[in-house]
Amino acid sequence: MTTVGERRSPELTALDGTGSRRLRLAIPNKGRLVEPTIELLKDAGLVFEDHARSLVARVRNFDLDILFVRTNDIIEFVGDGVADLGVTGQDLLAETGAELPRLRSLGYGQCRLAAAVPTDSPVQSVADLAGTRVATAHPNTARRFFANAGVDVDVIPISGAVEVAPRLGLAESIVDLVSTGSTLVMNGLRPIADVLASEAILVANPTAVVERAGELEAIDTMLSAVIAARGRKYLMMNAPAERLHDLETLLPGLESPSVIPLAHAGMIAIHAVVGADDVWSLLPRLKAAGASGILVLPIEKIVP
Ligand code: AMP
Repeated sequence: MTTVGERRSPELTALDGTGSRRLRLAIPNKGRLVEPTIELLKDAGLVFEDHARSLVARVRNFDLDILFVRTNDIIEFVGDGVADLGVTGQDLLAETGAELPRLRSLGYGQCRLAAAVPTDSPVQSVADLAGTRVATAHPNTARRFFANAGVDVDVIPISGAVEVAPRLGLAESIVDLVSTGSTLVMNGLRPIADVLASEAILVANPTAVVERAGELEAIDTMLSAVIAARGRKYLMMNAPAERLHDLETLLPGLESPSVIPLAHAGMIAIHAVVGADDVWSLLPRLKAAGASGILVLPIEKIVP
């Protein structure tokens, strides 16, 4: 196995220089976490070139370098201190068992690690798997899960195409990542238990958390402001002042809604932040409670 040091390219080594180096954030260079991660960083206002996908991108408006590395290597990079921060999947952190500080969940890459068997298998529950073979790319997590369940299985580690293992006769069941479940169905499999829920997370190097706390917090605040805003909308409406109480009960918002008197006597404007998922059910109720001229606006960032 190569170490991070051996894998480090001249491009990255050259950045090592002396003195305090720029903060480094490692993000996936391939796979399903790449696009949503880049979108989050750009929405947070970080300006960098990503098209070349070279190993390192210099952020122009912040003292930060972005390292594009394999999703599987991110935890090692952050653990070794090659990067101060990293974006990875919760499942991968659980699998390595690394004790990295987890700064936050990022709101994408949601999936679950599930145990599944062929559709025609007589197996109904985890206990029914006792004495059988389970193929998985997450052997440590699977072993922990079955040990906790008190079920003795033979875990077969494989690195890809886990879902074909039962058909190849490699195992009687699998533990694999599932999001919609359509890959399982396509492969003639049915889930029998959830092993772990996962989403993309921001992790940090333990030393950096102490020594570069201010910088880490600045990045974390930038990201959290975007994540918080993504699930919310800004509502503006006019209403007769005497309907304020009814409207306020419909609009919990972040705090209380803002109420602004209008030039037209007896009329007010109300501004409120609401959950994006609630907007469509709220609109008819707001109208019924006297609101008119309702505007629904996107929010770029929320810093509580
Ligand atoms: P990838 O690089 O595309 O193999 O995906 C890496 C990570 O994406 C996984 O370790 C998960 O954290 C996350 N992910 C989210 N949804 C899925 C899914 N349906 N299948 C596999 N990985 C997923």
